[in-house]
Amino acid sequence: MRRSLVAGNWKMHGSQEMVAQLLQGLTSGIGAGLEGVDVVVCPPSPYLQLSQSLLQRSAVVLGAQNVHDQPAGAFTGEVAVSMLIDFGVQFVITGHSERRQLFGETDEMVARKFAAIHEQGLTPVLCVGETLAQREEGAAEAVVAAQLDAVFEHNGIAVMKDAVIAYEPVWAIGTGKTASPAQAQQMHSFIREQLARRDAEVAGQTRILYGGSVNADNARELFAQADIDGGLVGGASLKVDEFITICKSVSE
Ligand code: PEP
Repeated sequence: MRRSLVAGNWKMHGSQEMVAQLLQGLTSGIGAGLEGVDVVVCPPSPYLQLSQSLLQRSAVVLGAQNVHDQPAGAFTGEVAVSMLIDFGVQFVITGHSERRQLFGETDEMVARKFAAIHEQGLTPVLCVGETLAQREEGAAEAVVAAQLDAVFEHNGIAVMKDAVIAYEPVWAIGTGKTASPAQAQQMHSFIREQLARRDAEVAGQTRILYGGSVNADNARELFAQADIDGGLVGGASLKVDEFITICKSVSE
């Protein structure tokens, strides 16, 4: 039985005051934790230390939005996995479409970041997803398969049981357009098939999240789909009451 997971990706939003308000609200709303659900927040790196201290003794777990694949060195502006570990980070997003599109991250770079995250004992949250043009051309599955293959070839398949995959159609991110539950389930089932073709046991264990304009109104139906194990939530994770409602809809 896979545990559900809801992760909030705050992107480049926040201030010390906002982080304190969000995390105080979230920790009191989540209390001792939700039955069968992991709740993760991924604040911007400068707020990891503050977040770590606010999340002490809470059921909410800390994640990061990005990391470099090298352990240390002359990489101005970058952050190493060991630094994230220093601040109690357990999950790291990699391959987010904004990193791929705006910062030129290739499938190979994503595969190397995935390796660095996993080798140091953290959980990679591997984002995959097609653009609207790719979907309209009928290439959505081929695009997602290629993104997955790059990681499988570099890292092997066994590591995927310790990882999380997030299917995030690019056309649904931050646009208010959500994939329908049927569209999302179809791609999640395709992703699980890609895992199962290589290792059926791993396929049964890997958590696959949906991301793309998840909100309090659509979460329940999306999360009720057989292959959807929770969500990666952007905009709605900055609204504490809405994020708590989303987390609770997966536990129901
Ligand atoms: C995201 O950034 O991963 C995301 C899914 O954003 P939003 O929920 O705002 O579409």
